[in-house]
Amino acid sequence: TTVVKIGGARAVDPEGALADVASLVEDGEDVVLTHGGSTAVDETLEDLGQDPTYVETPGGVVGRFTDEDTMDVFKMVMPGKLNTDLVERLHNEGVNAVGLSGTDGKLLEGKRKSAVRVKEDGKKKIKRGDHSGTIESVNADLLETILAGGYTPVVSVPVLGREKESAERRSADNSSEQGSRDGGYTAVNADADRAAAAIAGALEADLVVLTDVSGIYEDPDDESTKIDAAATPEAFETVKTAAEGFMTKKVMAAEEALEGGATSVTVASANADDPITSALAGEGTTLE
Ligand code: ADP
Repeated sequence: TTVVKIGGARAVDPEGALADVASLVEDGEDVVLTHGGSTAVDETLEDLGQDPTYVETPGGVVGRFTDEDTMDVFKMVMPGKLNTDLVERLHNEGVNAVGLSGTDGKLLEGKRKSAVRVKEDGKKKIKRGDHSGTIESVNADLLETILAGGYTPVVSVPVLGREKESAERRSADNSSEQGSRDGGYTAVNADADRAAAAIAGALEADLVVLTDVSGIYEDPDDESTKIDAAATPEAFETVKTAAEGFMTKKVMAAEEALEGGATSVTVASANADDPITSALAGEGTTLE
């Protein structure tokens, strides 16, 4: 089984990846496609006159703050437009694709973390009302059932998050929000790379992360310094040191995938012919 994550960056054209999914499926390979789409969420927010909110943790990691309105847009864009577009395009490639969000059949289940620690104007604060969370379990059985039926799953975030049952949260949060009953479920935002990692781990699959660079470079600005592979803890450290910004999250996700049972993780360019087949053949940066 191969789990493919396709980036949401503008510079990424899914054309080659989708054709490659079709040829892999044709050859009898099980493929699960997952996707991001943060840029599209931001664009839609802006079209609707809302500003995307990004916060910085005290540790310096920047991430989206997903308030209730943002979560509504997130649902419209991710499992709505982007997922449906990919399913549509796969059908045109002859693939019988099935679109799912992490909420379907508890495909991706986790915990909502509504309060986040942030650094604003140099001051540490707690910001409440975030609709994001972490993935704790994957319904591998659902994916295997879909694959066994000859269908190709296309998975997007959000994730099904359990609300925390705590008096503190009840009093601190204005809990009139729909679906945010204590102990109930609510859709939460989670990083798409980590969602792909969780799925690859649960399926003990090879994970191919397709993005706008041809791998992880020792010098982030110099493609000729691409690291081909890292199969030892020392090599992994080199990769960790090299990764900056968004790539840091991909390396973290890769580590989670391998710890969770994935057989390999390859970061490679989406903008190539047969990007998945070449990644599996050793193009890009392979982590084992
Ligand atoms: P996607 O939207 O496809 O998920 P991201 O934008 O999250 O991709 O991550 C890819 C980006 O990571 C690259 O465009 C590059 O700017 C950045 N990056 C940071 N460090 C590195 C590195 N060491 N090697 C390659 N790219 C890096």
